[in-house]
Amino acid sequence: MMIEEMAELTKAILNERRGRDHNIAEEMADVRIMLAQMEIIFQNAGEVEQKFREKVARLDRRLQERRGV
Ligand SMILES: [Mg+2]
Repeated sequence: MMIEEMAELTKAILNERRGRDHNIAEEMADVRIMLAQMEIIFQNAGEVEQKFREKVARLDRRLQERRGV
């Protein structure tokens, strides 16, 4: 099911990039729901949150370096 939802989001992104009608918001919502369900199935919400924070912090550092801050 997750793979199907990700494929639907990919298709929506391609439609947007090609200037066609798209339902990106709907498909993003579907993927978020699937991710929430996966956290329940894999019992790893804490680990996912930790990885998320680490990656956001790394991205923030890179953006600051690029800006010369
Ligand atoms: Mg969908």
